[in-house]
This record gives sequence, C-alpha cells and structure tokens, in this order.
Amino acid sequence: ATPTALMVGTGRGAQLGILIRGPEVLESTLRADTIVLDKTGTVTTGEMTLQDVVTVPGEDRDEVLRLAGALERASEHPVARAIARAAAGAAARRDEELPAVDQFANRAGLGVRGMVDGHAVLVGRPRLLNGCSQPLPAELLQVARDAEADGRTAVAVSWDGRARGVLTVADAVRPTSAAAVRELRGLGLRPILLTGDNAAVAATVAAQVGIAPDDVIAEVLPEDKIEVVRRLQESNRVVAMVGDGVNDAAALAQADLGLAMGTGTDVAIEASDLTLVSGDLLAAADAIRLARRTLATIQ
Ligand code: ADP
Ligand code: MG
Repeated sequence: ATPTALMVGTGRGAQLGILIRGPEVLESTLRADTIVLDKTGTVTTGEMTLQDVVTVPGEDRDEVLRLAGALERASEHPVARAIARAAAGAAARRDEELPAVDQFANRAGLGVRGMVDGHAVLVGRPRLLNGCSQPLPAELLQVARDAEADGRTAVAVSWDGRARGVLTVADAVRPTSAAAVRELRGLGLRPILLTGDNAAVAATVAAQVGIAPDDVIAEVLPEDKIEVVRRLQESNRVVAMVGDGVNDAAALAQADLGLAMGTGTDVAIEASDLTLVSGDLLAAADAIRLARRTLATIQ
C-alpha cells in the first residue's frame, strides 16, 4: 500500500504546485519544529525598485546613478537589478548607454566594486565605504538609517575614495506572507526570519508578517547562513528552511527539510527537497500539511 499512497501524495502535491524530490522527504515534515525563512525573495517579492537618490553636497545626482547603475549591471543581486534598471532608463532618456565595467568584483552580502569610466567605484552596504578617505557625511548616514527604519535598503556609492551618495531601494512583502507565517505556526513550526540585510529592515519586515523580534537573525553573511541552521540543529531543533537565492543553497541543503521558491535560482532549487512552484509562501504550509497527511495514510 505504501507506494500508492505516496504517489497520491506527490500527485496531489503537483496539483498544489509543490514538487517533492522523493518519498524520503515526507518523514522530516513530521519532526520539523522550526522554519527558517529567508527574507529577500522569499518573504518579500525580491522585485526591488529604486526609490531615492540622495547625494553628498556638490555631487551630481545623474552621475551618481549612472556610475552606480553601470557597475550594478554586472551583478544579479535584486538590489543591483533595481539600480541598474533605473540607471539604464535614465540613460536611455538622454539617448546614452551606460558605460562598460572593468575589473568587476562582488563581495557577497556587502556589495560590488569595479572600474567605470576610469573611476574605482564601490556600491553596497554603507559599511563597505568604511575604508574610504572621505566617508559618508552624517546627514547621509541619517538618510540611510531613516530608510532602513522604514524597511528600505540603503546602498552607498563612492568612487575614487570619496562617498558620493546614498540610493534607497524598496522591496514589497508578498501579500500572502503574513497568512503563511500564521499557518506555519498553527502547524507547530516556529518561524525565524534570516537575512543578510540590515537589522532595521529585517525588524520592519518581521513586524509586517508577525515574526517576533527575538526570532529575527539579520546581517548574516551568505556563507554563514548554513551556520545559523547548524546551530539551531545543535540546540535540538529540527529545521525546515525556505529560500530562493544562491546565498541560501548551502543552508537549504543543511536543513532537515529544504524548500525552494520556484521563482528562485536553480542552485536553491537543486539544494532543496521541495519546490514551491508559484513562489507563494502559503504553499510551504500546504506542503507540510500534505506531507503529514500522506504519511498518516500510510502508517
Ligand atoms: P538576503 O539574505 O536578504 O537575500 P544578501 O546576503 O544577498 O541578502 O545581501 C545583503 C545585503 O548586502 C543587501 O541587503 C544589500 O544591502 C547588500 N548588497 C549585496 N549585494 C549588493 C549589490 N550588488 N549592490 C548593492 N548592495 C548589495
Ligand atoms: Mg533571498
């Protein structure tokens, strides 16, 4: 009887838009007591848009966006795509193209650097500019903090050792995320928000979806996400995780149950046990409920 029930379970899963790697996956849905949720692209849509360009006094707004956007064209990060898109649009309106990038380098979880139009450009988290000879002035640090307190991501821009401005980028919480958090809790799972983004943005998103401040883990570098999962496991938690990004793959593989957003990257999908095709977090609750019900039928 066992194989038939499993096939029913996985067939129903496909109808619900859930792809299950194999029957052995179902078992961990019973034991999971914690669910780690990646923020960007999982709890939020990850489709960011540029909101604001604020420059250091004396700097030209168009030039800040042009050089930052040119550099960000080389990155696939959602923040980068928002900046590159806005800059390309502005350039097109001037009948120009964005300049090419040389010596591009990505610093995961921090930002990017490269040569654009003969300038050594840095774009990323404000602390990426710490070594600059002319760092962000107090007014711009305040702009960055205000944006973050408001749930937006602040990105600093410098070139040739001088801070030039701050760009703010906003992401939207998926409309179903708060309901999903409620349902997951109803299934006996404790939701934890995990992100590389700063603590203020993380706290704002957590409040919007009903995750307690104590269950927010922010400013985690991509390579350390796996450590967060391991530590939870060491404290005897059975950990499910939902993620979408390249930076989530190792942690998804480490989790007792890895769930990937179907809208996410291939690496995340390959590292996971389950794929939520629609990229709707409610499907995570559906998947766990279905898996448990399937197991109940066969046991
Ligand atoms: P998350 O865990 O939320 O998916 P990441 O670890 O990928 O986020 O990135 C953490 C933070 O680093 C971002 O919120 C952003 O502030 C900054 N960052 C990363 N890559 C870039 C980039 N290409 N341009 C600007 N900022 C970046
Ligand atoms: Mg993500």
